[in-house]
Amino acid sequence: MVYLVGAGPGDPGLITVRGVACLRRADVVLSDYLVNPELLTLAHPDAEVIALGGHRSRRMETQEEINAQMVAAARQGKTVVRLKGGDPHVFGHSAEETTALEAAGIAYETVPGVTAALAAAAYAAIPITHGRHSSAVALVTGQERSDKTESRLDYGALAEFPGTLIFYMGVTSATEWSAALIRRGKRPETPAMIVRRCSWADQETIRCTLGTVGDVIARRRVRPPAVVLVGEVVGLAPETSWFTARPLFGCRIVVTRPREQANDLAERLRELGALVLMQPAIEISPPCDEQAVDEALERVGDCDWLVFSSANGVRHLLDRLWSRGGDLRRLGAVKLAAIGPGTADALARYHLRADLVPDEFRAESLAESLAGGAAGRRFLLARASRGREVLAEQLAAAGARVEQVVVYQSSDVVTPDPAVAEALAAGQVDWITVTSSAIARALVNLFGDQLRRVKLASLSPITSATLRESGLEPAAEATQYTIAGLIEAIVESQTPARR
Ligand code: SAH
Repeated sequence: MVYLVGAGPGDPGLITVRGVACLRRADVVLSDYLVNPELLTLAHPDAEVIALGGHRSRRMETQEEINAQMVAAARQGKTVVRLKGGDPHVFGHSAEETTALEAAGIAYETVPGVTAALAAAAYAAIPITHGRHSSAVALVTGQERSDKTESRLDYGALAEFPGTLIFYMGVTSATEWSAALIRRGKRPETPAMIVRRCSWADQETIRCTLGTVGDVIARRRVRPPAVVLVGEVVGLAPETSWFTARPLFGCRIVVTRPREQANDLAERLRELGALVLMQPAIEISPPCDEQAVDEALERVGDCDWLVFSSANGVRHLLDRLWSRGGDLRRLGAVKLAAIGPGTADALARYHLRADLVPDEFRAESLAESLAGGAAGRRFLLARASRGREVLAEQLAAAGARVEQVVVYQSSDVVTPDPAVAEALAAGQVDWITVTSSAIARALVNLFGDQLRRVKLASLSPITSATLRESGLEPAAEATQYTIAGLIEAIVESQTPARR
C-alpha cells in the first residue's frame, strides 16, 4: 500500500490528521526536499526514512527512480508513505506516480495537503477570493516543461482572468511571465506579493506590482521556494499579518537546556514566532553511584523533608524508586519541598503535591522558608552531581540533620552542533537562552567570545552573576525565575515600542 501524503507548506502543524496516521504506520517514508524534517520524527522509529534530494543535494533523483523505489517497497509488502510538500496533486508530479502504481497493480490512497498558495494567502492575510475584487483563483506554473511545445500557457486568458493569479515555481522566470501578462493587457500596477517559505519561521513577504516583480526578485535576490500572488486582493493585505505580528517573529533563538527539557521552551518560543535552534549545553544522565540513591530511598520514609532543586531530580529519584520495584508509598509521610513551579509540576505528574514552594525560586529562598522549623529535623536533598551548596549549608546552620544524595549526573556538552555553530559564526543568532549557572559555564566553553555577538537571556540573578564572571552581560533577565518569566523578559526587550 502506498499513501501519497501532502505534508503542507512547512509548519508541521499543517499536515492533516489522516496524514499523521499514515506516517505513523509507514514502514518506508519517501520524503520530498520541501517537507519540514520535523514531520519525519512522527514516523515509527524503525521506519526507513529516505530524504529525496533537492536544490541543495548533490543530485536529484529522477521521477523514474522515485517511482521504482515506491513500487519496490510496496511489492515487498511494506506500507509506503510518499510525503510531498504542500498538496500532492498541485505541481507535485502525482500523475506520474499514480500511473506507475496503477501499472504495477499497487493500491494507493491520496491524502490532500495545504498547498503553498492557500497557505501563503492565510499567512500573508490576503483574501484570495473577495465579493468585489476576485471571483476565482488560478494556480499557475511559472516553469513550463521544456518538452511541452504545443500547450503553452494562454497568457491572454490569464490576463483577463477575473480573479487572483498565484504563480508557483515562478521566481527565476518572473520577468518573463509578468511581461507576457502585461503584453496581453494586464495592468502593470496590479498589486503583487512574493511570499517565500510561507508558514516557516523565516517566512518573507515582499510587496510589489506585476510591473516590478521581476526587478524586485532580482534586486532582493529572492530564492525559491516562493509563490507570487497577483491581483487586486493583494492590496487588501494588512502591513503585518497575524503571523508576522507575533512578538518574536523573525527572532532566531538558541535553546540550551538539556534535550529532555528543551521542548517546552522551544515550543513556546515557536508559538510566539521565533526560529528555534537547539544546542543542549549540558547532558543529564543517571548518577555514577546508583547504590547511594537506593540506600537513600530505603531511608526516605524516616526523613521529615525531601527537598528537590530541579524537575530532573524529581524524575530521576522517583523513576529509580519505581524501577527498583518500589512505589510512592515508600515516601511515607515525608514532606516535599520544591525549588520552583517547574519542580512542583514534575512532582504533580507523579500525583505528589509539594508542601512548600518558596516565593522566590532560588536555593536561598528555599533554605529560608525551610529554616524556621529545621532544628533537629532530618532533611534529604535530592540533587545534581554539581550544584550549589547553599541549601545544605544554610539548613545545617539552622540545626537540621542534612543528607544529600546525587540523583542525576549533569555534564557539559563539549562539541557544538554544526548548524548552531554555523549560524552563530554567520551572525544569524539573535538570542541564546541561559537557564542555569551550569549552562552558562558550558556555553562559555562551547562558544567563548562568540557569545558577545548575541543577546543572552538569563533565568535569574544567579545565572546572570555566573555570566558576568566571564565578562558577559545578559540583555534580559527573568523577573520570575521560570521559563514563562524568561520568555516574558525576551518578549519585553524585543518589543519596547509596543509597551
Ligand atoms: N505540491 C506543492 C508544490 C510543489 S512545486 C504544493 O502544493 O505547495 C514547488 C513550488 O511550490 C515552489 O517553487 C514554490 O513556488 C511553491 N512552494 C512550496 N512550498 C512553499 C512555501 N513554503 N512557501 C512558498 N512557496 C512554496
